[in-house]
Amino acid sequence: MDSPEWESVLQFVSEPLDMDIMSDKLVHETGSAAPSQVPTPPLNPVVSISTTFFSGANLNPLPPDLVFLSSDAVFFYVHSEQVLGASENGFCGLLPAKPANPPPALKSFPRVEELGPIIALPESAHVVNVVLHTIYGISCAHYAPSLDILLAATDALHEYGIPVKRYCTPSTPLFALILAQAPFNPIEVYALAAHHDLYDLAVPISSHLLGYQLASLSDALVQKMGPIYLKRLFFLHLGRIDALKRLLLPPPHPHAPTADCDFTEQKKLTRAWALASAYLAWDARPDLSMAAIEAALRSLEEHLSCGVCKKSLGERIKQLIVQWSVVKVLT
Ligand SMILES: [Zn+2]
Repeated sequence: MDSPEWESVLQFVSEPLDMDIMSDKLVHETGSAAPSQVPTPPLNPVVSISTTFFSGANLNPLPPDLVFLSSDAVFFYVHSEQVLGASENGFCGLLPAKPANPPPALKSFPRVEELGPIIALPESAHVVNVVLHTIYGISCAHYAPSLDILLAATDALHEYGIPVKRYCTPSTPLFALILAQAPFNPIEVYALAAHHDLYDLAVPISSHLLGYQLASLSDALVQKMGPIYLKRLFFLHLGRIDALKRLLLPPPHPHAPTADCDFTEQKKLTRAWALASAYLAWDARPDLSMAAIEAALRSLEEHLSCGVCKKSLGERIKQLIVQWSVVKVLT
């Protein structure tokens, strides 16, 4: 592994392993088979160690007593009490770990007994890294995890009985990381927020979903977000369009008749406004931009000769823009 996140040369494995360090056998087998005496080319002689969760990391006053091994051979030294304290299902039934029993193939290596219990996890090191940072309440922002990693880590947290709702609140590093990545794939993040009922996350994400084509929602996404958040997404779209139609309805205020512009003359503006707003509302989308609204209505000015009407139109447009900007995205 070339990742700077892990120390890629493990010091305690001082000679090549004659087996695949990743095989389940390594972790679970407790049989009597002795390591082969005939050296064979190692499949993976190097084990990496997390640069945050290493044996000497001072994450806790006590030394770590448990090792997680990711699917891509990275060791994470953790405290079983910290992990158990966060999990509501004994870390998916993996904890408490059985007493240390080094796999036969590792018995000949120095200091292996110091490792304590080793638990192999099916997740990659990137995902385990986010999961553990979350459990320890520390930020992993410096690792810049991708959105896919964050999504997988959030699902893994759930799997391991860590209440996502408690560990992904607006004040947590995980929340900030996911929110920062949300614009890249808002519907996936919305579905994630929905799945774990992370309402505080769903609200800011929904502003990125105004341009989303609801017709393109896949069954999998619908299933993941569930009925409540699906309804909220639909009403977000319908509600915005409704609100826009309501806001467009009142025409600019008429002014007192002048020599150049009586009430009949002013009706021209009222009619033009009605036409322009009908045009805007006809295919209004929830993400209709302020610029588009302003451009459509501002064009009416060209047909006005009365200065007072022009001013009234300008004020009405300004008011509309302000009103549209505060229409709530998701409530
Ligand atoms: Zn006028």
